[in-house]
Amino acid sequence: MAVDSAISSPLGPPACEKDAKALHFIEEMTKNCDEVQENVLHEILAQNAGTEYLQKWHLNGATDRETFKSKVPVITYEDLQPYIQRIANGDRSPILSSHPISEFLTSSGTSAGERKLMPTIAAEMDRRQKLYSLLMPVMNLYVPGLDKGKGLYFLFIKAESKTPSGLVARPVLTSYYKSQQFKTRPFDPYNVYTSPNETILCVDSFQSMYSQMLCGLIYREEVLRCGAVFASGLVRAIKFLQLNWQELALDIETGKLNSKITDAGIRECVSKILKPSPELARFVREECCDGNWEGIITRIWPNTKYLDVIVTGAMAQYIPILDYYSGNLPKTCTMYASSECYFGLNLTPMVKPSEVVYTIMPNMGYFEFIPHDPSNPVTISMDTPPHLLDLADLEVGKEYELVITTYSGLCRYRVGDILQVKGFHNSAPQFKFIRRKNVLLSIDADKTDENELQSAVENASELLKQFNTTVVEYTSYGDTKTIPGHYVIYWELLMKDPDNGPTDDVLDQCCLAMEESLNSVYRQSRVADNSIGPLEIRIVQTGTFEELMDYAISRGASINQYKVPRCVSFTPIMELLDSRVVSVHFSRKAPHWTSERRF
Ligand code: AMP
Repeated sequence: MAVDSAISSPLGPPACEKDAKALHFIEEMTKNCDEVQENVLHEILAQNAGTEYLQKWHLNGATDRETFKSKVPVITYEDLQPYIQRIANGDRSPILSSHPISEFLTSSGTSAGERKLMPTIAAEMDRRQKLYSLLMPVMNLYVPGLDKGKGLYFLFIKAESKTPSGLVARPVLTSYYKSQQFKTRPFDPYNVYTSPNETILCVDSFQSMYSQMLCGLIYREEVLRCGAVFASGLVRAIKFLQLNWQELALDIETGKLNSKITDAGIRECVSKILKPSPELARFVREECCDGNWEGIITRIWPNTKYLDVIVTGAMAQYIPILDYYSGNLPKTCTMYASSECYFGLNLTPMVKPSEVVYTIMPNMGYFEFIPHDPSNPVTISMDTPPHLLDLADLEVGKEYELVITTYSGLCRYRVGDILQVKGFHNSAPQFKFIRRKNVLLSIDADKTDENELQSAVENASELLKQFNTTVVEYTSYGDTKTIPGHYVIYWELLMKDPDNGPTDDVLDQCCLAMEESLNSVYRQSRVADNSIGPLEIRIVQTGTFEELMDYAISRGASINQYKVPRCVSFTPIMELLDSRVVSVHFSRKAPHWTSERRF
């Protein structure tokens, strides 16, 4: 029931007192966006005034925007790497942050094939927690009664590693799920999960998924929302159900947990909720046995009101399959965040994916923006710090690249995201996520850029030399029609000695050689998470890429400027390529990956 109108919010009537406070906080932040930003920058610069990094740029204790913008350069990860390496090696002096670095967060963005390392401080966990605490109050405005049931969320932790000096390095969500803030969160009737903490906190992805799915089935009638962080995670969970429903149903029938689940914590907590239920087992078998997965989410969890998954950006490719599984349930994209900084939330979560906008919360960090206009690019150099725009300066309709300054010590750091302003909530701009710069292929958390693909092709084609064969042209495609999705690479070959061309076996090995060359996030998704399937090479007939060019020119491309697209998705082009395929090849083995990283 809505609370007293005296504490009602312009966003809508809050569901409870706690929500009223959260909505009030959102209003305060967004009404005073520029002032909050000024204060945030002041706080960050005052806190970090004594750091080596800020001293290098001669801020001399200044905490105002003008001095900051005129002295501190705009940078990328590569510029920071020497500092980060020193922290990883054990230098505990205040390099980037005056507060001790509590751990490294490993981004899904990579540098030289390895996840980027983002140093963070303990206080940032509270800031992230604060943003999380705003999500349900907004959701409750649109979906009443979420306190009457549970959320089925598939949440996972990943393997951690340690720097030479003993600092932990792990993804931000692993850090969050392992934190006291998450593990000992107070009971909130609006935020009850079907998954016990132990099932989330198991690093073995099979055991974690199996036990979370089992609990989801047991509580099926109480489930009011289903989700994962990204759409790819929920698609993977449904695929898991397709592959494992028989074993899950047997456990439910007998009340005995599968012996493959060896994690003691999971066994103990699941044994408390798993009771023999032949009726539920029969139901699961009936729903799954005929291989019809249309509407499976609403058949198994009939009270689901929405899917809580991010389907913006690279995840938009999963909208059709989620619609198929759920009979077009709303898909709420609740927040926009990164390892570097959590940015903001979606204040109207029930809108269509194409209309999703995120409101950056100005208390999370200091945000600046580089106008993004490909016809008039802004040159950024280390020597003359550019005067970038503030949140308050942005215009509706324009695109910008996001630059952040954080409490952890990132200063004017380019995240790589391109955003477009769609409107305002109070004085805070609302952004559509346009894309991540330089990402060519992405199936799950992986982000493969053009250079990585190029060197993977070069490395793999070494195997063709013995056959006097070269790859003359190539392009790629992220195929998410298969589950898990996989990379498809089209190769056109030049065989100098056609009678002695590469064998099928060698072309299969080329697939693996490409995978071995791709970044560690790709390989981890392949090996540990099984969220990417084996890479496929499709060999096309000689002349195919010339036809591709003819096609592009017939559609208006300039013959002088034509470049082979290194990634394709437009249906007529795919049809053209696929109609010229002469052979297909897959990786027969998983590439090499270990949770131990190079520092
Ligand atoms: P990571 O560094 O691995 O934490 O990845 C963060 C990146 O994921 C962001 O910089 C975005 O490119 C992407 N991302 C995060 N949230 C969203 C969202 N809601 N919609 C689209 N992309 C997102």
